[in-house]
Amino acid sequence: MKLRKLALCTSAAGLLLLAWVAPGQQPRRIDDIALKNAGKTGEEWLSYGLSPGETRYSPLKQIDTTNVGRLGLNWLYEIGPGGGNQEGTLLMANGTLYGITNWSIVYAVDARTGKEKWRWDPEVNHAAVQPKICCGVVNRGIAIYEGNIIAPVIDGRLIALNVETGKPAWEARVAYSQDSYTLTMAPRIAKGKVIIGVAGAEYPVRGYFEAHDAKTGQFVWRTYTVPGDPSKPPENEDMRRAAATWSTEGMKMGGGGTVWDGMSYDPDTNLLYVGTGNAGPWTQDARKQGKDKENLYAASILAVNADTGRLAWYFQMVPGDEWDFDSVQQLMLADVTIKGQPRKVIMQANKNGFYYVIDRVTGKFISGQPFAQVTWARGLNEETGRPIINNESYYGTQSIPIAPGPGGAHNWAPMSFNPATGLVYLPASPGGSFNYSSDPNFKYQQGKQNMGITFGGFGRGGAAAAGDAANAAGAAPAAPPKPLPAPPAIGPEPPEGNGRGGVLLAWDIVNQKERWRAQGGGGIGGGTVTTAGNLVFQVIPDGRLVAYSADKGEKLLDVQTGLRGGMGPPITYMLDGKQYVALAGGSGALPTFGPPPGAAAPPAGGRGPAAPGAPAPPPPAAGAPAPAAGAAPPAGFPGFGGPQVTPKLLVFVLDGKAALPAPPAQ
Ligand code: CA
Repeated sequence: MKLRKLALCTSAAGLLLLAWVAPGQQPRRIDDIALKNAGKTGEEWLSYGLSPGETRYSPLKQIDTTNVGRLGLNWLYEIGPGGGNQEGTLLMANGTLYGITNWSIVYAVDARTGKEKWRWDPEVNHAAVQPKICCGVVNRGIAIYEGNIIAPVIDGRLIALNVETGKPAWEARVAYSQDSYTLTMAPRIAKGKVIIGVAGAEYPVRGYFEAHDAKTGQFVWRTYTVPGDPSKPPENEDMRRAAATWSTEGMKMGGGGTVWDGMSYDPDTNLLYVGTGNAGPWTQDARKQGKDKENLYAASILAVNADTGRLAWYFQMVPGDEWDFDSVQQLMLADVTIKGQPRKVIMQANKNGFYYVIDRVTGKFISGQPFAQVTWARGLNEETGRPIINNESYYGTQSIPIAPGPGGAHNWAPMSFNPATGLVYLPASPGGSFNYSSDPNFKYQQGKQNMGITFGGFGRGGAAAAGDAANAAGAAPAAPPKPLPAPPAIGPEPPEGNGRGGVLLAWDIVNQKERWRAQGGGGIGGGTVTTAGNLVFQVIPDGRLVAYSADKGEKLLDVQTGLRGGMGPPITYMLDGKQYVALAGGSGALPTFGPPPGAAAPPAGGRGPAAPGAPAPPPPAAGAPAPAAGAAPPAGFPGFGGPQVTPKLLVFVLDGKAALPAPPAQ
């Protein structure tokens, strides 16, 4: 009898355990095979770009053109108080949604109920780190691998958190914010290693990316993107070759080439693709060089062996960059037929306004055309893809309007590729420009922003500083000097209106041509996902979730979520037989850009309202510089957050009936 009772108890416990795991899939570890196959069914969202090619194409089709208009909110989860835009791509695995929000706080939410499972705050020292952050208190994503969520911490740490408990499994150091580095990109997994790059090329830093063992956090290799201290020998042949393309002065000031967004891994070739940021300082004048210097490997795509980090090939988009043309945008891999030939391609919609298609095995240029107004170059060499740069784009101390500007024609907002239509859905800012001029009084400052440009025709600190100086002297602020005429433009017409509005472009990648466009969006904020339901979902920075037919661009859904700003990209997944669309948005209370000189440090946390008398300015665009401490942000940078709405995770489903967040008071 006793034995029988015990058996009953055991089986009851077993049932309980089953009930806890079910309904749905058994929890499974996400290994290399799962990541290689990620995106094939669309059930889960296991890596930043959904699939190894980062196409953000989901084969799900329960939601399609006939029913997408019935999409409604299922539930929402309050992410936290905010402190900047939500730029993170969510992950969904084993019935749990994972995300990362401002100050690198990671959260896990039961995807069935919206109930928080755990939350982990790396407790970044806000007051110390804030002044080192170039472009907003943001993180773009996380990775999942072998029972851990791997998260970048903006202060330079990389940490693995147990997927079930949120407790740290390991912690590694990638960089120090004391050295003006930050981590904002989503880590990627390549054959048991986690790869991450550093941000911050508006400061005097030397860009790099590095690999750690994904199970232990142990350092494996580091690859620099630009040469280092000229008084020391180069680390390897790649760096020796790069050093020949730099002035000594440029190398002394760091060189830039930081790695803060685009990265992808092809498991078939074991090549890891990495986009590198602008050359630093921005101006060739500050780098004391002529335009013959290419500044390798800034503003480039690097293909490296994932085992060693050594260079297999490189393709430089912008030789001698002086326009902040970070080439870190999404690196999408696809297999397509071009001129009758099957090609393995890598693609990028670059900040510089050109859409590039490159052979990802050899690095050979295939094609490139402007998808935006471009004045810095007249086109690309048809054989090599090297830009034909307009001579007047190499600016001096007199300002000249150049398109695109530092915000870029495309920035971090994810695009998506639908193999059925052959179209990439690209959130673009096709009409932006910026008045570039070189600061004649530029002096290199250790640990400070060192762009070498003037803002609005004025020196360091921009128009605000010039106005303050004029006020102090009792004079009216001077008008900025008249800019030089713009070089001739190529590329599609800018959107109607003031030319700054964003659009969604449906771009034919084989013919390098726009097929349709829709108003709204832009290269910064939100993003797209496309599905086998012939749909494109787009999150628009003003808070809307919209959907179009993928082939024709007919608008089928337009929901104002009520978040009104700080929007991240959408994902889609399947759970218990239903397809969902999820997104995060809202910026919450924004911190000020560092304490004014002599002021007490702001309270840690950034969770409360801004200090009295110190209204928080909007964050600058990704890849664009933050203004100096205490200064107003320079005009002309797109992507500012809207009203301050507490960040939320929203999950939509067909016939969802939950109430959307109330919009903020206008
Ligand atoms: Ca930049």
